[in-house]
Amino acid sequence: MKRLICSAAVLLLCGASAVWADERPKGPAEDGTMPALVKIMGEGQLNSHAFQYLTELSDDVGPRVTGSALEHKAEEWGVAKMKAMGLENVHTEKYTIWKGWTRGAADGELLAPTHHKLHIDAMGWTGSTPAGGAEGDIVAANLFDLDNEIKNVSRLKGKIVLMVAKGKPNKGFTAIFVQFGDFLKAAGSAGAIAVIGGQGGFKSQGMNLTHTGILGFDNDYAVPVVSMTAEDQSQIERYIDRGITPRARFNVQNTFTNGPVETANVVGEIRGRERPEEIFVVGGHLDSWDLAQGTTDNGSGTATTLGAADTIKRTGERPRRTIRFVLFTGEEQGLDGSFAYMREHKAELKNHLGNLILDAGQGAVKGFQMGGREDIVPAFEAFTKALANLRELSVDDKIEDGTDTLPFSVAGLPGINMLQETADYGFTHHSAADSLIAQKPDVLTFNATLMALAAYWVADRPERLATQWSAEKTAKMLRDRGEYEELKAFNIWPYGDLGADKND
Ligand SMILES: [Zn+2]
Repeated sequence: MKRLICSAAVLLLCGASAVWADERPKGPAEDGTMPALVKIMGEGQLNSHAFQYLTELSDDVGPRVTGSALEHKAEEWGVAKMKAMGLENVHTEKYTIWKGWTRGAADGELLAPTHHKLHIDAMGWTGSTPAGGAEGDIVAANLFDLDNEIKNVSRLKGKIVLMVAKGKPNKGFTAIFVQFGDFLKAAGSAGAIAVIGGQGGFKSQGMNLTHTGILGFDNDYAVPVVSMTAEDQSQIERYIDRGITPRARFNVQNTFTNGPVETANVVGEIRGRERPEEIFVVGGHLDSWDLAQGTTDNGSGTATTLGAADTIKRTGERPRRTIRFVLFTGEEQGLDGSFAYMREHKAELKNHLGNLILDAGQGAVKGFQMGGREDIVPAFEAFTKALANLRELSVDDKIEDGTDTLPFSVAGLPGINMLQETADYGFTHHSAADSLIAQKPDVLTFNATLMALAAYWVADRPERLATQWSAEKTAKMLRDRGEYEELKAFNIWPYGDLGADKND
């Protein structure tokens, strides 16, 4: 039966009664899922292992750069946890990333006009200075005028380059970010010693903090690129603004592998009791950066995923459909693990209902984002309304394109993001402050419980939450939401001209 849609103009006449009563989305109180959710709430809040998982991952495994020995150890740890809690079909799904990378020394020293240590850390998948370091004058390059900077790149030979953001940007931020990659390649070829460009031309957040990270999807650069603390970077900028040329010495030593390195997603399931072939994926990413413990990015998502799985297992409840828990790796290099998952499971994507991801750190969940699927917002609201006494939770249809939700949204499936408070995450994100101390156990526990409730409800409700959209419909939706430019720029737009207006 087709749902009757009221236009705004006839709303007064038409009203809510025109929506057929039997098509109003049902919440847990009406769809039969409530008794199981009550049990999950109790186990999740009173008997949670989420913070224990996070403690082990942070203190006993440590930082988990994709393809590194510690990341491989984390895979083994994840498999052991999933097996111990009794998940089914526990296994790893191997894939490779284009190149491995290991951080070495990153020392900086201001030599003139005054003298002190500079606080720097290398960006991921960037290169090294000559052995023992090199010294040079520091010159500014404008992130907002990269066309000219690339044209005049020979002036950077033997210099340390400080990225600044001056004037108005002459293009969109995605375009600037992509062109920054071109600039780094050109600066490296021209013989620049290093580039201070961790946050592009922007200041590092937090007191005496650097933030590492990758500079593009699956990209590496021969020139060392460093993140510098805001305190040091501001001082250097002030000198340059006054016409003084500062001089510094950098010693940055990183190592690339010669070829691809192996990594793996960790997978375990609670098989569905009625329609096991229908799958809802729930996860976070197991890999991290390496300046600290990788707790909030994304140990927190790993711990909520495992905590949610363990909670559901301990209730003894089995949902109608399969919940597949996935700890992705390679997220930090360009969502490599979730893209690998889509390739590995191409044949069964039609049977997927979407995925549910937590990857914005330590903060409380405050809503759910449906990843481009406005059609499922009313159904999901029926779920969050049932939790209104616990917390007000927003539901919208936004796409989160910065984590493992994106490959699902691009495939026409709901990549559902757990929207979080992020006030503290700005400091811990990819920094030396990303430590266990940043995560409050009660917040993590409730996030894990919410994840368990949402996962179970989606998998168990009588009606299937979502089916995969056609390529045409998905391409149109992605274009309408402004995702095309970025996906195209990062070479992950899969739809050619599909969905484009004829007169484009
Ligand atoms: Zn992350």
